Amino acid sequence: MVLARDAVDQIETHPVDVLVIGAGGAGIRAAIEAKAAGASVALVCKSLFGKAHTVMAEGGVAAALAHVDPEDRWQTHFRDTMVGGKLLNNPRMAELHAREAPDRVRELEAWGAVFDRTRDGRILQRPFGGHSHPRLAHVGDRTGLEMIRTLQDRAVALGIDVYMECTITRLITGGAVGGSGGARGGGGGPAVVGGFGYWRTTGAPVLFPAKAVVLATGGIGKAYTVTSNSWEYSGDGHALAYSVGADLIDMEFVQFHPTGMVWPPGVRGLLVTEAVRGEGGILRNKDGKRFMSDYLPEDRRGEYASTDEEAAKWVTAQSQGRVTDARRPPELSTRDNVSRAIYTEVREGRGSPHGGVFLDISYLPAEHVRRKLPSMYDQFKELADVDITKGPMEVGPTTHYVMGGVRVDAETGASTTPGLFAAGEVAGGMHGANRLGGNSLSDLLVFGMRTGAGAAAHAARIEAQPYVDPVQVRDAARELAAPLEREGGENPYAIQQELQDVMQRLVGIFRIETDLQDAIAELARLKARWPGVAIGGGRVFNPGWNLVFELRNLLVISEAITRSALQRTESRGAHSRIDHPETDEAGWGGRNSVVRRTADGSMEVTTTRLPKMPDELRVLLGGAH
Ligand SMILES: Cc1cc2nc3c(=O)[nH]c(=O)nc-3n(C[C@H](O)[C@H](O)[C@H](O)COP(=O)(O)OP(=O)(O)OC[C@H]3O[C@@H](n4cnc5c(N)ncnc54)[C@H](O)[C@@H]3O)c2cc1C
Repeated sequence: MVLARDAVDQIETHPVDVLVIGAGGAGIRAAIEAKAAGASVALVCKSLFGKAHTVMAEGGVAAALAHVDPEDRWQTHFRDTMVGGKLLNNPRMAELHAREAPDRVRELEAWGAVFDRTRDGRILQRPFGGHSHPRLAHVGDRTGLEMIRTLQDRAVALGIDVYMECTITRLITGGAVGGSGGARGGGGGPAVVGGFGYWRTTGAPVLFPAKAVVLATGGIGKAYTVTSNSWEYSGDGHALAYSVGADLIDMEFVQFHPTGMVWPPGVRGLLVTEAVRGEGGILRNKDGKRFMSDYLPEDRRGEYASTDEEAAKWVTAQSQGRVTDARRPPELSTRDNVSRAIYTEVREGRGSPHGGVFLDISYLPAEHVRRKLPSMYDQFKELADVDITKGPMEVGPTTHYVMGGVRVDAETGASTTPGLFAAGEVAGGMHGANRLGGNSLSDLLVFGMRTGAGAAAHAARIEAQPYVDPVQVRDAARELAAPLEREGGENPYAIQQELQDVMQRLVGIFRIETDLQDAIAELARLKARWPGVAIGGGRVFNPGWNLVFELRNLLVISEAITRSALQRTESRGAHSRIDHPETDEAGWGGRNSVVRRTADGSMEVTTTRLPKMPDELRVLLGGAH
């Protein structure tokens, strides 16, 4: 069906107080909170309800519950997060996250989540890279499934309206409806008053007028060829926020997880959870050398085992749920560091046959490996014909997570555009230059809740349903129909493949000015081709047509990543510049990159200073600042 140009008033319309775009952990948690605050809520997702990325999370959710190590405290979690993020995190977000994560995990348990248990029946916690104590509550290596199932049950019980297989392609803006207490202090410009999208099942357009809109759309992994992310991660929320003038921050910081599958080619990039290393997995190169000790940052070396014996003692204690004085193995260094180490081993000719390195957990009892890592066991057995209880896996870095995102107010999740909020992976600030494993699931619980409350409070301050401009709706409907009506245009898959290749080759783990300049030029050429894309077939379940709008978003966020990476002339966290290998504390310390759409539609990249850290938080960092 192609919408008649004048049929705006015939579009299916669902007015609500709060529109939540995205039904992963952040979106569902936000919807639950907004509903509990008395708002009417529409929860929209582009795939099936329950099939968001959150369901794929394996290793666990980080929270200083102190069940395995009674020494753990929120203050240490705060410090680990800030140190892992190279002190570029919004300190208030890191504080709220560390303080509130334990309550959010306990709340999930009260709602029915069943985590693995300690011997005395409390929630079991496993170690992960960069965390000073065993901190990740988990369910084997299927933690996300348990979380999403629990949140979903709760949302259904509360009667939240869910619109699944529905993609939002445009935000609608309107007249001033009052500031939202945004990250820039109240926000400027026109407010967001709803979202426009279409049903993937029928192709019919749909409109959600709303007093507040929460973005919870996840990440951007599909900008790269090798990624752990599914098709859903096309940076839609980042691009939607940008399109209405909201600030994006820290976009240069893309996390390359050190361990993805490298073989067979069809599954290249698929995640091999950090839990494998948390349970004692050892990284070796083709010569059998355990290489991670060679790559530990000097100032952190003292935190890691200095001999294989000490590392083995630590692994044994962990598997028995005991505290030990042995230090953790070097494989549990932060993700940015382990990724660079593997990349360097491969580049210098010491890689495995398929361009990775070896990760070995087969020295532990087979029954223990199968119980603690059931998904990894099945994944390698079914996809690579490798039995991980008998031999090593081959692994290499894979694009996994974006630290950058919508600039938000720590307390409420409000963006710099009135009426627009963001939570979860689409929001920036929480993780600084590098995210610690397990800190995303806790982030989406803590800030999903806060953002749902913030959006509901904003909506409550607005009496009448905001006016929705029919011209914007008509334009959005025309944009939707255009690729189907165009004849002889270009295939969006071809452009997407080229875009992924550009990002993988030129804006990957190691970056250099000449590559970044080339990438900007290439991306501009691809962007110029986008208006000419054409699609055959109809609107019903047409993946090529769906891709057109995801591609538009990928073009925006790829440019944002590349321009921010060019601007930051230093190496920090996940951003490594070959031409600027040092961390430049004097020039770049405490500075976040900001990307914003200017009035003429061009992309502006600037910087802003981190909010000041109060002394009581600064003191927790010890010598790390
Ligand atoms: C394989 C894997 C393992 C991981 N393991 C861990 C782990 O152990 N611990 C940890 O802390 N983190 C882990 N992560 C990261 C973590 O899972 C994600 O960062 C987190 O789940 C993101 O949650 P979210 O709610 O922000 O987004 P998601 O869970 O991805 O949800 C995004 C939602 O937005 C919807 N959406 C997107 N665009 C649109 C649109 N235009 N219109 C409508 N809906 C839209 C999607 O359909 C989806 O419902 C892992 C990630 C992966 C990929």
